[in-house]
Amino acid sequence: MSASVQAVAPGLHRIEVPTPFRVGPVNAYLVEDEPLTLVDNGPNSATSLLALESGLNEIGYAVADLELLVVTHQHVDHHGLTSALLSRSGAELAVLDALAAPLAGWPAYAEGNDALAQRLMCRHGVPEGVATVLRAVARAQHGWGGAAQASRLLVSGERLELHAHTFEIIHAPGHSPSDTLLWDARERIMLGGDHLLEHISSNPIIALPLDESDARRALDEPCRPHPLPAYLASLRRTRSLRPAIVLGGHGPPVRNVPALIDERLRFHARRAEKIHSMIVERPRAAHEVARAMWGERALTQAFLTLCEVLGHVDLLAEQRRVLEVEEDAIVRLHA
Ligand SMILES: [Zn+2]
Repeated sequence: MSASVQAVAPGLHRIEVPTPFRVGPVNAYLVEDEPLTLVDNGPNSATSLLALESGLNEIGYAVADLELLVVTHQHVDHHGLTSALLSRSGAELAVLDALAAPLAGWPAYAEGNDALAQRLMCRHGVPEGVATVLRAVARAQHGWGGAAQASRLLVSGERLELHAHTFEIIHAPGHSPSDTLLWDARERIMLGGDHLLEHISSNPIIALPLDESDARRALDEPCRPHPLPAYLASLRRTRSLRPAIVLGGHGPPVRNVPALIDERLRFHARRAEKIHSMIVERPRAAHEVARAMWGERALTQAFLTLCEVLGHVDLLAEQRRVLEVEEDAIVRLHA
């Protein structure tokens, strides 16, 4: 078999699907069971569809054979091909209940998400021109995703029963608000999306809330979601399950799960201390902190780096070690 298809556990195959994104290929997982199930797919592009199709062929299946699609979270590299696969297979689509509406109304959700990002960037010191350019870049990315109608809503805690596999559905917000884990407690295997990756610390990106009224509030009021504290709580919960393997959305299977989670927890604690020491020096906007930490990258990836800083500010806020003070429409962080 080619390098892009790998048997990772009994009845479980990893198919690497190329993406145009910096993160590299995304992993789709075929669960060879009844129903024949594909967890995640790829960005909405012909290249990705062809690669996925040839991966399925190598294992002995065609797109038309798929009976159930599951999506682990809202990022386009994981679900962009959903509607193409649904129309060619007639499969069911199962997603976390809260993700169904944003996915069904994809362009509008993505647009709201960009609006929230732009507002947060301006509020936290990113130059307006940069925020405007990045919003245009983000809009150009919407087409890698697409609207899809779920036929089955997954509730956190429920069991998704296939003939030979049973997965507990676990809502684990953090990396995104819709992160959904499929936990096979008998085999101690977790299909994790981007919850825990071997080589990348999953950036908890601030996203528009999935619930419509929460989303309106996030767009209208100076409140913001707090994904990093939520993410750390989700990671601790995963650690307590002691999975033998986490099959992630990018890169190889994670086998040293508790050690890797401990490493991630220490990393975030250290980063919070570093940011704290910078605002002890003098009050700064979150973007200024990002500039000091990452230089040019804080402009080219202004929103990602801003989320990184704000996430750690949220951890400091839990310890009452930071104050956000609004002056002239810009929020400055005071120790
Ligand atoms: Zn992701």
